[in-house]
Amino acid sequence: MEPFVSKHRLDKAKEASLFLLESWVKEGGGLTAGFTGREGGASVAPWASLNMGLHVGDDDLAVLENRRRLAEAIGWSFEAFTCGEQVHGCAVQAVGPADAGSGRDSRTTAVQDTDALMTDEPGVLLVSFYGDCVPLYFWDPVRRVTALAHAGWKGTVLEIGRGTIEAMGSSYGCKPQNIRTAIGPSIGDCCYEVDENVLSRVRPLLEEMRQADVEVFAEVITDSTPGHGFLNLKELNRQIMIKAGILPMHIELSDWCTGCRRDLFFSHRMEGGRAGRMASWIGMEGR
Ligand SMILES: [Zn+2]
Repeated sequence: MEPFVSKHRLDKAKEASLFLLESWVKEGGGLTAGFTGREGGASVAPWASLNMGLHVGDDDLAVLENRRRLAEAIGWSFEAFTCGEQVHGCAVQAVGPADAGSGRDSRTTAVQDTDALMTDEPGVLLVSFYGDCVPLYFWDPVRRVTALAHAGWKGTVLEIGRGTIEAMGSSYGCKPQNIRTAIGPSIGDCCYEVDENVLSRVRPLLEEMRQADVEVFAEVITDSTPGHGFLNLKELNRQIMIKAGILPMHIELSDWCTGCRRDLFFSHRMEGGRAGRMASWIGMEGR
């Protein structure tokens, strides 16, 4: 069953379209987590309409209005939004009350050079941005820690998923067997053909998976034309998480493909590089 459930009401043109990570929200006791769609925002073409990214040439005021609409739709304060300046790296940064609000209205105030944020602080909403890349969600209900990581192909082969799990352990004492994870809406292998430059970075990881006897649910690379292949980034991230000690039953996997479903999502690749960005978010309410 698809874990990211659409909550958009078609009659509400000014209400942010959302995909809630429903099982976590139900079980989480004040946890919110999900992914935005493209409808219900204030931006005009080619960012129409719920563009969440400040870095794609859109009007900043429209983006801030869109972010406020997300805050309103999930019942959180916009002041709680806490964002990193994403660089397709693998740095993981712990954030606390002093960081709350970083990057919410400007890239210069974002937590710099980081693609993964984590916190044990209630009231801090972690938010990151996506044009096709894979959002990775982490929740440890035992230590009450949340984390979010942005994994494009570069972050994936740098194993930002494993890095986040290890950082949750060293910073907060989280044990992998307690950590729940989710792999969100992103480009599927149906729409993601890559060249040898990328494939040559993926193959050594697949060899590691084979040696570690990680259970394979789907092929990571499917042949296409010579020198190219279709890459399943979601599956590769799933295998990385399992190798890092996450229980397979603790991995939620979205089937939504941002390339196939441009009626619902932006796709950087399928829209020729001129597209808005979706946001992923996760946070625990204060007590
Ligand atoms: Zn697709």
